[in-house]
Amino acid sequence: MYCTHTDHAHDHRSMMTRVELACAERGLRFTDLRRRVFELIVDSQKPVKAYDLLEHVRRHGTGPAAPPTVYRALDFLVTHGFVHKLEALNAFVPCPHPDAGHGAGQFLICERCHSVVEFDADVLADRIVLQAQAQGFAVRRHVVEVYGLCAACRS
Ligand SMILES: [Zn+2]
Ligand SMILES: [Zn+2]
Repeated sequence: MYCTHTDHAHDHRSMMTRVELACAERGLRFTDLRRRVFELIVDSQKPVKAYDLLEHVRRHGTGPAAPPTVYRALDFLVTHGFVHKLEALNAFVPCPHPDAGHGAGQFLICERCHSVVEFDADVLADRIVLQAQAQGFAVRRHVVEVYGLCAACRS
């Protein structure tokens, strides 16, 4: 689940801890900037654009944070499955299970309130990989974006 208001503080802590542990386990460095960028994405209630992250880091940063370093931090987070990039929106959301280390995601995106929910569809993911392999294609990552209205907006 994408974060909700009530359990947000708890979510935030556990998300940070889970990524810290995942990094330690896999020998990855969770640098200050990577942590910062991840935090901003977790704290946002909606998908975050790279531009907004840049602005935020620039305004509240203590040290210099050139755009390329912010983009590299984003790249790191996406590559290791800590956040996902929604291609059509060109925005980022935190993965609800960042320790899974998957590069794939299936998303339900509400066109009215812009809430985003990631759901597991392993059958679908496997199917995509198999079909791609049949064509000699090696999948690095994939994102499935499903647009419509969420339960709250429909009622
Ligand atoms: Zn995910
Ligand atoms: Zn909605």
